[in-house]
Amino acid sequence: RGYIEAIETANPSLNAYVAVTPEHALEMAKSSDMKLGAGQAGPLEGVPLGIKDLFATKGVHTQAASHILDGFKPEYESSVTANLWRDGAVMLGKLNMDEFAMGSSNETSYYGPVVNPWRAEGSNMNLVPGGSSGGSAAAVSAWLCAGATATDTGGSIRQPAALTGTVGIKPTYGRCSRWGTVAFASSLDQAGPIARTVEDAAILMTSMAGYDPKDSTSVDIDVPDFAAAVERGVKGLTIGVPREYRMDGMPDEIETLWSQGLAWLKAEGATIKDISLPHTKYALPAYYIVAPAEASSNLARYDGVKYGLRVTGKDITDLYELTRAAGFGREVKRRVMIGTYVLSAGYYDAYYVRAQKVRTLIKRDFELAFADGVDAILTPATPSAAFGVGDEDMNADPVKMYLNDIFTVTVNMAGLPGIAVPAGKDAKGLPLGLQLIGKPFDEETLFAAGRAIE
Ligand code: GLN
Repeated sequence: RGYIEAIETANPSLNAYVAVTPEHALEMAKSSDMKLGAGQAGPLEGVPLGIKDLFATKGVHTQAASHILDGFKPEYESSVTANLWRDGAVMLGKLNMDEFAMGSSNETSYYGPVVNPWRAEGSNMNLVPGGSSGGSAAAVSAWLCAGATATDTGGSIRQPAALTGTVGIKPTYGRCSRWGTVAFASSLDQAGPIARTVEDAAILMTSMAGYDPKDSTSVDIDVPDFAAAVERGVKGLTIGVPREYRMDGMPDEIETLWSQGLAWLKAEGATIKDISLPHTKYALPAYYIVAPAEASSNLARYDGVKYGLRVTGKDITDLYELTRAAGFGREVKRRVMIGTYVLSAGYYDAYYVRAQKVRTLIKRDFELAFADGVDAILTPATPSAAFGVGDEDMNADPVKMYLNDIFTVTVNMAGLPGIAVPAGKDAKGLPLGLQLIGKPFDEETLFAAGRAIE
């Protein structure tokens, strides 16, 4: 009830929730209460969570923050949310996001932007919470849920976590089932939690993860008790510092934050090692070929026939065209056009195949660093703190917006786990985050090292 009241008070100004489900929440809480009374409590019994609008929730609003899924209420539950309910969690509602998870500021949502609960000192300007999981990050940061689900295709968990002073982890590709999560770029998409502390994120991750035969890329590997790894410490670990992440024109405060993070890890007994990931500079351009290519294929299903919005015309072709024209926003259309172009005959080899080759090289860079004794890699999470809602520069040039993902996309391209933890503030008092990148299926080291920084 406390969370429901907090949502009623704060959501009109933050716009973090696109659907609130109080009756649902109270009913689930009641059943939790009974299970607690009967000594049958699950590990998340009664914990109220917000769910990103990308996860299918049975009978409940699921629109990926798009107009094209107007009125869509799935007949089934996503595997990740089903795992959470199995463990006793309670759903407060569905969280705002960039349309189909395409964006870095939560401004492409059909429901309008989410407002970051943080303000720069001495300013009243509304700031973005990052994206695409902007609603998840803002809701956790503003205490409108105890934790939230999110997804990360190129940074959508880690970047908003960094801009709101919260913790976000994208696990190894294959750790969480993608079944029932609206697909953006299937070879990159991964679910993960956004929470207030590293420990909370570890607890949520333990419930969300797990093998699922319904997702052919889900990996059949044991899920450890991630929370047990949180206090493990970093003594004896080797932390890599990739020199290619020291970008030209990197703001001093990011540089300082990074050095500070390294100093903390060193003080706790880790060894710091300079490393090279030579293909880093190709990651962002290659990502913006691969992700739109897969998106254009995944989004072909929204045709006005099967779900959501339907705009009719004189024939079936009209129906497809009118529905898609009215249903998709600008950024989604841009991605579909780029994706269709790079997959088309004649350009497929020049763009798509080439980007896939670049992807292999990026993956190999990481493999070599890990083979050379590196246990985890520390980098900044974002190139700056939160920027203004409607920022002219960012919105006039999509490439500027894409640059927000410069430190995060490499991780998705390589399928690795990455965590963003709050590490400090900029000169205006806004939160800044650091990112730790780990070996495949070694999220435990990220939780341990993340704890040493937060
Ligand atoms: N900002 C990136 C994009 O727009 C990443 C989004 C995501 O991780 N879902 O593609």
